[in-house]
Amino acid sequence: MQKLNKSLPNFSQAFSQLIALPSISSSQASWDQSNQSVINLLATWFETLGFDITIQVVPNTTGKYNLIAKLGSGDGGLLLAGHSDTVPFDENRWLSDPMKVTDKDNKLFGLGSCDMKGFFAFILQACQQIDLSALKKPLYVLATADEETTMAGARFFANSELIKPDVAIIGEPTNLVPVVMHKGHMSHKITIKGQAGHSSKPANGVNAIEVMHQVISQLFKLKEQLAQSYNNDAFDVQTPTLNLGAIHGGDNANRICGHCELDIDMRSLPGMKDDDLVAWLAEILAPIAEEYPGRLSIEELDPSSPSFQQNCDSELVITAEKFSGHQCCAVNYATEAPFVQQLGCQTIVMGPGSIDQAHQPNEYLAHSEILKTNKFLIALIQHYCS
Ligand SMILES: [Zn+2]
Repeated sequence: MQKLNKSLPNFSQAFSQLIALPSISSSQASWDQSNQSVINLLATWFETLGFDITIQVVPNTTGKYNLIAKLGSGDGGLLLAGHSDTVPFDENRWLSDPMKVTDKDNKLFGLGSCDMKGFFAFILQACQQIDLSALKKPLYVLATADEETTMAGARFFANSELIKPDVAIIGEPTNLVPVVMHKGHMSHKITIKGQAGHSSKPANGVNAIEVMHQVISQLFKLKEQLAQSYNNDAFDVQTPTLNLGAIHGGDNANRICGHCELDIDMRSLPGMKDDDLVAWLAEILAPIAEEYPGRLSIEELDPSSPSFQQNCDSELVITAEKFSGHQCCAVNYATEAPFVQQLGCQTIVMGPGSIDQAHQPNEYLAHSEILKTNKFLIALIQHYCS
């Protein structure tokens, strides 16, 4: 065992330092913060351990960075990945300071404790406990920006194709259960531009609500077709879904409605392509667009996040199941896994803590997770890098 590096914090110090540095990402500008201080802290730690550090400025963001730390040379190896940002918090619902680790009831409370800045303290700890000089294959650490909003960091990292590990673990909170599947998510706004007028003369206008009624009928057909054509029994909800989420239109009972908007979301199953879903949406609405030229438009609300699947019989999944004692499973939430998988590596989502505590007041990591996560990471690094 390597001697502990005196200039580096131990696990609980590292954990506290990460939680103390704010890195909230939010679509609301008043909440949104740079993640630079977290990235700089990670850069200092991993540089001290001998890693080569690359910091990426994430385009089209304000003050958002990715960190890629690499130890060793050559191909393959292991990538340990996570996001450096957290969601905003509701101070009134927290019983302790969310930016200060509170150790109580065998739990470490703090914003980002399980989702998921705490994971980087585990990586640091494992790296201090093994002989890094004996590793034969590269070990990578990735910390991304803006996972909680646009996944801009992971998208940019994947497109920049800087590294090609054999395997990747994304340390989101799964109670150390290997997650091999999740649905994709996309959301769209459908707008009908009508022609307003007095309600007494319907022929003088184009009623946007009436056109939207036709749109909704077509969407029901698409929903039915998706449910008939696709099924995956690994999920609680076994079919792709299409939800009508919000509708706005019109202003008065005696006026022909001149404008109507409908927000929908669609959740795809693994194996379905985002481009296909978008094409099917356009196709099902095409007859209405033809009947009312220039009045129907479809726009993407948020950048879509693709579905994710890693084969259960791949070596990484078998190894992760063996080391953790847990069988692989599917989850309902989206992660950065499909982007990391673009590197061409076997990829799973697997980390300490529970998703039940993520995005909640009084988020915590249970003490009981600490030792087993430490053992798991050491075993994993030795398996893939030695
Ligand atoms: Zn997360």
